[in-house]
Amino acid sequence: MKKIDLAIIGSGPAGYSAAIYASRALLKPHLFTGTEVGGQLMYTTEVENYPGFSEGIMGPQLMQNFADQAQKFGTKMVFESVSAVDFSQKPFKIWINFPSQEIREKFEDSSFGEYAKMSDQIRKTDPSFAAKAVIITTGARAIILNLKGEKRLMGRGISTCAVCDAAFFKGKKVFVVGGGDSAMEDALALARFTDQVTIIHRRDSFRASKIMQQRVFDNKKIQVLWDCEVTGVKGEQKLEQIEVKIKDQIQNLPADGLFLAIGHKPVTHIFQNEISLDNRGYIITSQSNSSHGLKLAGERTNKKGLVELPTMTSVEGVFAAGDVVDLRYKQAITAAGMGVAAALDAETWLNE
Ligand code: NAP
Repeated sequence: MKKIDLAIIGSGPAGYSAAIYASRALLKPHLFTGTEVGGQLMYTTEVENYPGFSEGIMGPQLMQNFADQAQKFGTKMVFESVSAVDFSQKPFKIWINFPSQEIREKFEDSSFGEYAKMSDQIRKTDPSFAAKAVIITTGARAIILNLKGEKRLMGRGISTCAVCDAAFFKGKKVFVVGGGDSAMEDALALARFTDQVTIIHRRDSFRASKIMQQRVFDNKKIQVLWDCEVTGVKGEQKLEQIEVKIKDQIQNLPADGLFLAIGHKPVTHIFQNEISLDNRGYIITSQSNSSHGLKLAGERTNKKGLVELPTMTSVEGVFAAGDVVDLRYKQAITAAGMGVAAALDAETWLNE
């Protein structure tokens, strides 16, 4: 078992930003990349809204820059997925072993219940690392429809972030799937660039807040297809058509853009039973945008009125940052900022 000071689990903007700061603070962080090295931005084409890149930058290049900067200051990259953790005692134990190929294959997409069974088998093996502190930056995956060709066309007409990509669809025909606040927000963002926005929703009413619904209904550029499902996506180099089931009939509709706003799933299955998660599976810190976060912040407010170590989870010495905490903003820059805060908090905690 290798003894280390700081483990950073996850290789998106939050993880790399934490690594840059932690390595410059001489904490010699080990960054466990997971299988999707670089995270969600690896599936994006051009990123136009990351401050400091006035000409825009390709998502994979931005992540490579993050990784180079972290390694330049001494971050040790571990190109493995963390398969289990034990935060019940210090130092914290970390496994990267998979006792069987079957478990390795099922691991990524396993539900909380399925993982609980795998975890017992993983923990029977010897842990690989013992860390004094841990920063969790495993992110959240946008839920997709699991249609044939969907992943291939991601960033080529299909997107999970209208805030990031709406500007590429000026005057184009775009569709948004979903009926929550994100779908409303995406449709409104797209309507600033095109008057051909259609929301496709699987039921006959939205679950979004009333005010967001009203803004959508008041916007003449947005139409709604109720009780409909997207059943296929077509296109070679980029999205060209979507197949929609409308009242039991299949129709092919020309489409330049398809924005999926059907929710996110935080990657937290390995942390269940180890730290407090909210009812959606997000990690709770004092920075959580929820009543849980406010409660924790209240408990950790010192005599000077300041919240102590805002990025710390329910376990002392375990910190979390980025989309795995953040239900709301989910931007690379907000995740990066939170990663920096987590590294500074971890440094303070380790020094104390
Ligand atoms: P959400 O509230 O969970 O809504 C997801 C939507 O996607 C639902 O309408 C759901 O349909 C639909 N859906 C789920 N799976 C689907 C599938 N396989 N096929 C088709 N449709 C599917 O997620 P969200 O909109 O991302 O919001 C998440 C949280 O963030 C919410 O608490 C929201 O209020 C908050 N948020 C707030 C703001 C804001 O205040 N400005 C902005 C964004 C998000 P059903 O309705 O039929 O289940």
